Amino acid sequence: MSTGYTLCEKIQNLTPYDPLEGEYQLRLDANESYLEPDAALRQEFGNIAAATAFNRYPDPYAVELCQAFGAFYNLPESLITAGNGSDELISIICGTLLQKGDRVLTFAPDFSMYRFYAELYELESVVMEKEADLTLSVDKAIQFINSQNIAAVIFSNPCNPTSLGLSREDVRKLVSSVKALVVLDEAYMDFWDQSFLPEIGQHDNLIILKTCSKAMGMAAVRLGFAVAKPTLTIALRAAKSPYNVNSISQAVGACLLSKKELLTDCCRQLVEATAQLYKETVSLAERYSILEKVYPTCTNFVFIKTPAARSIYQKLLKRSIAVRCFGGYLRISAPAPADLPMLMTALEEILREEQHDANS
Ligand SMILES: *Cc1c(COP(=O)(O)O)cnc(C)c1O
Repeated sequence: MSTGYTLCEKIQNLTPYDPLEGEYQLRLDANESYLEPDAALRQEFGNIAAATAFNRYPDPYAVELCQAFGAFYNLPESLITAGNGSDELISIICGTLLQKGDRVLTFAPDFSMYRFYAELYELESVVMEKEADLTLSVDKAIQFINSQNIAAVIFSNPCNPTSLGLSREDVRKLVSSVKALVVLDEAYMDFWDQSFLPEIGQHDNLIILKTCSKAMGMAAVRLGFAVAKPTLTIALRAAKSPYNVNSISQAVGACLLSKKELLTDCCRQLVEATAQLYKETVSLAERYSILEKVYPTCTNFVFIKTPAARSIYQKLLKRSIAVRCFGGYLRISAPAPADLPMLMTALEEILREEQHDANS
């Protein structure tokens, strides 16, 4: 007999995160790295998987992994918490460092998961729109946080999706001018040189998030890190589920993070590929005014303002090229140099049509 169970209100209208499904020749929609481990590294990962103690729970604090991460970024292990992707860490922060009703500030546009978790945990989500040029005014943000009783502010720097970055000086000003918890998501900072990690020790109200999913090219293993002073780190470690990072990911991540030269070289290639994509997109925008603006990028993707975003997105999909569409904007992850001509040729053909339609 049915008991007439009903879902509680907050979950009733929740829709799952909906990444694009299906097979596409070019996946440029998730800001993944196009680089894959070579045969030797795959072999190393294979050996790691084979040597795993499958009957045992993982190390709850992922000590070796955190040490490898710490060595990579020159940080003590005592400031680091590992997560099953930084996504899990955002969830833990919203669910445990904040209480029901706390006001959480996000900026728009920014990464959508911040609001998703804030709302899931019944925090009060407060959104501040960015400037018309999509930059963030730090002074306005500070003023807002301090006058609106904001408990926490979460943002990405450099920003996904705008590809714009906030200087270290601006971040320092923000973090040191507010009492609120500042969650600084540096998922893309490996592509830029304004990381705030070196100053983590000077701020009690700061958590910096990092991920292996972008510059490190390891989205599959789901590894993220929270870096914060001991009071926050101890709280995060206490609040997370005990075995949140599986043994294989821990060991593979530690192995990868010990390869500084390889990772630096991968990152350099991605930065170059992005510069090439940016250059060719700007050149398209010069020829096709329907591309209104290409934002400068300090990430591994470009962000484009165009009233034809939706149509261009759909036409690219028909050609088996997946990008992201946000309202009147397109976000395109840097493709491998060998794939760039396919993208640019498709874009140019589509733009010729769009421009023609717009003019007629
Ligand atoms: C991709 C991305 C992440 C990474 O999330 P993981 O769960 O570590 O894969 C975090 N923040 C932003 C802004 C991102 O774009």
